[in-house]
Amino acid sequence: MAREFTTNELIGASFGCECGRTHSTRFSRMIVEKGALEKLPGLLKELGSKKPYIICDTHTHEACGAEVFRVLAAAGQNFEKIILESPEEGDLPADELSFGRVCMAFPKDCDLVISVGAGTINDLGRYASYITGRDFILVLTAPSMDGAVSGVAPLIQNHLKITFPAHAPVALVGDLDILSKAPMKMLSAGVGDILGKYNCLTDWRLSALVNGEYHCATIEGIMRSAIDKTMQAARKLTERSEDDIRTLTEGLVLSGIAMDFAGNSRPASGAEHHISHFFEMQFLFDGIPAILHGTKVGIGTVIMLRLYNELAKMPRPDFEALKAAARAKAEKGPYLESEEFAAWKAEMQKVYRGAAPMVIALEEKAQKNAPERLLKRLESTEKHWDDILSLAKTAPASEEIEAVLEGLGAPVRPDQVGVCPHYVEEGILHCKELRDRYTILQLLWDIDMLVPMKDLLMREFA
Ligand SMILES: [Zn+2]
Ligand SMILES: [Zn+2]
Repeated sequence: MAREFTTNELIGASFGCECGRTHSTRFSRMIVEKGALEKLPGLLKELGSKKPYIICDTHTHEACGAEVFRVLAAAGQNFEKIILESPEEGDLPADELSFGRVCMAFPKDCDLVISVGAGTINDLGRYASYITGRDFILVLTAPSMDGAVSGVAPLIQNHLKITFPAHAPVALVGDLDILSKAPMKMLSAGVGDILGKYNCLTDWRLSALVNGEYHCATIEGIMRSAIDKTMQAARKLTERSEDDIRTLTEGLVLSGIAMDFAGNSRPASGAEHHISHFFEMQFLFDGIPAILHGTKVGIGTVIMLRLYNELAKMPRPDFEALKAAARAKAEKGPYLESEEFAAWKAEMQKVYRGAAPMVIALEEKAQKNAPERLLKRLESTEKHWDDILSLAKTAPASEEIEAVLEGLGAPVRPDQVGVCPHYVEEGILHCKELRDRYTILQLLWDIDMLVPMKDLLMREFA
């Protein structure tokens, strides 16, 4: 039985775990309460900041930034600020231009960075604080995604989203008065990002079964309890009660802590995130304004849980035939020189366009699709097939997640956010190439079921 923790116990925690590792997080301060902004001057004093640099955009300035400036001015706190102009449609992109603006206005004598926002503004501030060696505080305006306390910043460089190292906030400040007024699409995006954990935690267990990947039941327990609470809260989130908004915010913070504990994003990101990234990349290439991260993750979750629901009733594959085919491929010579790899490369160039070199380099290194690796996984999959089916049965029905998201007015199908069927098809087939991370999609590919499952989903979506 895994140990149970409260959120407060986990903030700044470091402990030896039953899994044999020591888990720790540097995220040590969370002030999520009514009137939290009033605590900012005291917090800055405690951190020894004489003059913070505050970053917001037009929207977050209106929602919260103006109040931050008022509180600091009233306390006699010096500060500098930049208010980036939000575009008329969509959100401000975290790209070279936005980051350039933040840096060009960076006053040399500012000793700390404060972001007032959620996604983009948080990412810009986290990276600016990192490259200037300043501490970072996040004043959250909407609980819309789980990157709030993360130590990396996904930024767009040359139309590609690249993950840069960044400073995790030394403190997260969330005023419940402000958080509870966030637009419903941002709140439902936060819910989508958390419900995605139903899938990624199952992916994690699946990989532990098939590949013997490291797994920690304590970290999984922390995330499971956060999703269960979020499910409860989500069913009445339209009432915007402070308790429910706090539950959602804490769930997103806990995702960040769980990633720190695991040392990677495994407890918070699986195939549902990979397909979300895939859609996001295609939108970037096509110059279509971005959709909220959590909204796409919610849609990805419905897709992946649907696949788990199908897996739960799948007949046992013909492992002898699958293994024989893998052996025959392996005998043909080195994988990277094979015709199969050349064909795969050509396909990636078509599907991933400007990002293809990155995807190809990853496979050249990881070689997850190489026949030798496939054979090894097939042997393990065969051995654990019954356990795999039992695990798949633990995944919630995709309809249940759909109902919760729809109850919040959130989209649950790719076409509802403008993703065309072609990208859905390619996403299901190829988004697994974005990371060297085993998920249900790799399992289905291994047992030759990815294409039939894709066809099944496409029929449903059409
Ligand atoms: Zn552990
Ligand atoms: Zn996420």
